[in-house]
Amino acid sequence: MPAVLDRVLGTENADLLVAVFAQCEPRVLMMRIAPVCRSWAATAEVVLRELCAQRRWQLARRPRGGLSSLTPYRALWVQRACRGCCDAAGDYAVRDTPRGGTLFLLCRACCVSERVLSLLVHQQLCFDTLGLSGRPLQNESKGKGRKRRRMSYV
Ligand SMILES: [Zn+2]
Repeated sequence: MPAVLDRVLGTENADLLVAVFAQCEPRVLMMRIAPVCRSWAATAEVVLRELCAQRRWQLARRPRGGLSSLTPYRALWVQRACRGCCDAAGDYAVRDTPRGGTLFLLCRACCVSERVLSLLVHQQLCFDTLGLSGRPLQNESKGKGRKRRRMSYV
């Protein structure tokens, strides 16, 4: 690591760290930076709060047990973003059974990704082909004339 970057990351100046972390992709922020220490996690929260605000994702007024009180925006990001790319908004619910609860969400690109599909097959999971937004995974013209299926085993 270059000496300058090492000094910047070792600083206690939160504003400087926020500026550096704001340049990182959400995936890096979630997987690499936030788990380092409490200080970095708290600083990453500032960036994640801004990213959530840009997407109009808001914390619940009464947070459920799943949302951590120390890093609520990190928990909100895990809850709402695609688990495959950790960047796009998740729209298609992944479940262990067709009538089971939502385990996590995937975006459209990840639903058609061979890598993600092979992981879902390996874990024996299925996902909704109708997104939370009401947008079907396949084109409307393909499904015309056929009965719409809500669930699809991968
Ligand atoms: Zn994705």
